[in-house]
Amino acid sequence: MDKTLLIIKPDAVKRNLSGKILKQIMDAGFTVLGMKMLWLNKEQGGKFYEIHKGKEFYDWLVNFISSGPVVVACLRAPDAPQKLRGVVGATDPKKAAPNTVRNLYGTSVGENVVHASAPDENPQREIDFFFKAEDLYEY
Ligand code: UDP
Ligand code: MG
Repeated sequence: MDKTLLIIKPDAVKRNLSGKILKQIMDAGFTVLGMKMLWLNKEQGGKFYEIHKGKEFYDWLVNFISSGPVVVACLRAPDAPQKLRGVVGATDPKKAAPNTVRNLYGTSVGENVVHASAPDENPQREIDFFFKAEDLYEY
């Protein structure tokens, strides 16, 4: 698997951090195959995060991800899902390694600025959630 999905979450978009975050990720060696901005409704947010249904943070998470626009990008690199999780850092910004995206910009375990597909949770499903094959450019 050499592709993965990145979401710049509404907290980061609202704080005008999209450019900085993308620069950091592209500088780490990822190629953007497709990218767009969109504002998810609660139904779409709930479906994207359905793996978390039943957890105590699910309702909060669905509200959060649909609370403003997001930037979604399909990224390519060798071992893309594992590599992106490394650049992004741990879920809780306080536990994320120094200079990871979440460590630099995250403000809480919920408002942690980005989503990156988990290698063991079907990154392709997440890419397909947002992009048709013809909207991804191999170059
Ligand atoms: N989340 C939260 N509280 C928690 C755990 C997670 O609000 O205790 C949010 C957070 O925004 C996280 C998302 O739910 O990014 C998905 O959780 P997951 O455990 O899959 O973390 P991730 O894969 O994003 O690191
Ligand atoms: Mg996850």
